[in-house]
Amino acid sequence: MGYNIVTKNNVRDRFAPAPRPEIWKDTPDKDWNNWIWQQQKRIKSMDVLEKVVKVDDDERNAFAKSHEMFNMGITPYYASLMDPNDPNCPIRLQSVPKSGELNILPMDLEDPLGEERDMPVPGVTHRYPDRVLFYTTHNCPVYCRHCTRKRKVSDPSSSAANKQLEDGLAYIESHKEIRDVVISGGDPLSNSDDRLEYILSRLRAMDHIQVFRIGTRNLVTLPQRITDSFAQMLSKYHPVFVHTHFNHPKECTQETFDAVARLANAGCVVNNQMVLLKGVNDDAKIVKELNHKLLMMRVRPYYIFQCDMSQGISHFRTPVEKGLEIIENLRGWTSGMAVPHYVIDAPGGGGKIPLLPQYLEKREGKKWHLRNFRNQKFVYEEP
Ligand SMILES: *Cc1c(COP(=O)(O)O)cnc(C)c1O
Ligand code: SF4
Repeated sequence: MGYNIVTKNNVRDRFAPAPRPEIWKDTPDKDWNNWIWQQQKRIKSMDVLEKVVKVDDDERNAFAKSHEMFNMGITPYYASLMDPNDPNCPIRLQSVPKSGELNILPMDLEDPLGEERDMPVPGVTHRYPDRVLFYTTHNCPVYCRHCTRKRKVSDPSSSAANKQLEDGLAYIESHKEIRDVVISGGDPLSNSDDRLEYILSRLRAMDHIQVFRIGTRNLVTLPQRITDSFAQMLSKYHPVFVHTHFNHPKECTQETFDAVARLANAGCVVNNQMVLLKGVNDDAKIVKELNHKLLMMRVRPYYIFQCDMSQGISHFRTPVEKGLEIIENLRGWTSGMAVPHYVIDAPGGGGKIPLLPQYLEKREGKKWHLRNFRNQKFVYEEP
């Protein structure tokens, strides 16, 4: 499977390999490091989960009531990061059902971002002037409990068929204003390398397409998927940006370090889109540690998303002030590279709206009264 170490130095040594729980102690490394094995052995039932962690009543009840609506699926690798004794472990909160999911609030929306509304053809959301979101599958190696696209992710009846793929490519081809394609899903890395290469080669053949991004959580949940041959395939289609989704420093392991190194050494630029989640990462110290680890792996923090108004994820939503507080605690206090944009993806399809702590105190004509991160006051005067 071409899973070799590509960068070996003392930074890599600061990332620990995922521990191997008892039930997989005897699994040969060649299986454990093989993404097909990881994919086949995904945990989909409480019986198997119980062999890895001490399942609590809330998780058991929530699973019984939720799994028909939104499957549970957890790779052995991701499960190995769980704390077996703590149901509030950030890895468990993201992947094991909780009763909070069963709670649908009146303000919750099925399609909070209006992605279906802005669909000129099924599978393409065209909201911004020069770029589109292109759905290529509805499968993911791990089903995130906070997924904003629960309405279709993990539902096999909604998976993108070849006809839909061709219609989407035809739409992109005929719209010359599109220069940036976000290849999304589900997780596009659930497609075979051949299918992905077909998509990339079709897009690269279009003169108006400048860049594309692959939005994938495989780096976090199935880093074994990033094989040398996959990274080499991508390098034929540069510039390729990979947008991933780390939410907690515990997810930064030697396996993820190696997976990012494969992509970065193959010339890909890797960005992170974190979702602000109550109980997981609603704490400036955790986000700072995460972003420092990401930079050591060559991943640039790009967005922090306020948790969407999707159905069944209200237990993850934090006050908006929490996001502002996190930015306030990053800007100036640490590298600007570690400070992402905090955005709310506006309900109803308004797009991403950035929020910043208030650094402008007042404006008097040409005088701008500002404060810095230490709350010291300054005046900038225009000529
Ligand atoms: C997020 C998003 C994009 C990409 O937005 P950027 O701000 O360029 O990263 C494009 N289309 C849709 C529909 C999106 O939701
Ligand atoms: S990987 Fe993305 S699309 Fe898949 S379940 Fe997680 S958040 Fe949803």
